[in-house]
Amino acid sequence: MPTDRASVLIIYTGGTIGMIENPHNGALEAFDFEYIEQHVPEIKRFNFKINTLSFDPVMDSSDMGPDSWVKIAEIIRDHYEDYDGFVVLHGTDTMAYTASGLSFMLENLTKPVVLTGSQLPIGQLRTDGKENLITAIEIAAAKDADGKPYVNEVCVLFDSLLLRGNRCTKISADQFSAFASPNYPPLARVGINIHYDRRMRLSPPTEGKSLKVKMSYDSNVVFLKLFPGISESVISSILNIKGLKGVVMETFGSGNAPCSSWFLNALKEATDRGIVIVNVTQCMVGNVEMTRYETGIKLIGAGVLCGYDSTPESAVAKLMMLLGTGRPLDEIKRLMMTSLRGEFTVDHNQDECSCAVSLFD
Ligand code: ASP
Repeated sequence: MPTDRASVLIIYTGGTIGMIENPHNGALEAFDFEYIEQHVPEIKRFNFKINTLSFDPVMDSSDMGPDSWVKIAEIIRDHYEDYDGFVVLHGTDTMAYTASGLSFMLENLTKPVVLTGSQLPIGQLRTDGKENLITAIEIAAAKDADGKPYVNEVCVLFDSLLLRGNRCTKISADQFSAFASPNYPPLARVGINIHYDRRMRLSPPTEGKSLKVKMSYDSNVVFLKLFPGISESVISSILNIKGLKGVVMETFGSGNAPCSSWFLNALKEATDRGIVIVNVTQCMVGNVEMTRYETGIKLIGAGVLCGYDSTPESAVAKLMMLLGTGRPLDEIKRLMMTSLRGEFTVDHNQDECSCAVSLFD
């Protein structure tokens, strides 16, 4: 059980942050996180109980997928009562996918799960890894005056921003400020102090609800990124992939797509076969509004669902989770258009966020 001393579990999965230079050949190698205090002696200055668990073997995040999300979620579940918060060290490349996946897997979360990583290895002189790690630990342990955590959701801490996990995206391959959340304000800004914006956080689950972890998913999904000139045979091949159950279709502007009958017929034929197609925009900022232009209205007629301002990462992770519930198709479609963990901005017809909706019932 947590003691008066704050306690944080660091889960190291892999990625640049955990690398140091081999003094003999200069190669970057993963170091043993058991000895993290040798590499980041600063963390001794927290008067926290800090323990580490490492994936074995550690993974480049390009190799990670829902199986790895399950592994992280299981570790959090198994140690949930023993810590105030969790820091997940992760490669930056697919961090936004993992953060999204975990946000749907971990239901009734009352503690912070903070993902972070770095652009430069922790063992390199100008590393951003130490600062990101130290700040993530501080956030994972932080409590307000009532002793409640400032955040009770899956989030990404990078550079000076704490972002909702299922709202963020990697925007830079080489800048320290590598993540943004274009459609949702930061949960906190990090400077001399950490300023939490409490209006932005997810409301805590109803008192008494305990953590549930969803392990099943269905990865028979695909991204379909539209471009001017996309051919009928490409669309047809994608929509006829054997076993396909879901499509995240990346459209133009506010959710627009070609109006050609071959295209709309192909979509309609796929949705009639029970394939779930979700419309998200290729634009970094803004919302899909399917009733704004005729093209959007025609997509509704073809059975395409509105993804609002979801990131593609969040939409694909959510689709895999929902398909993995084995619920009836209508229910999956309804939940896909319901904000479950604050993953999109709701329109006025919906409650702010239906965190009360369980993926388990
Ligand atoms: N390829 C690395 C990864 O995502 C890059 C990084 O950590 O930033 O695992």
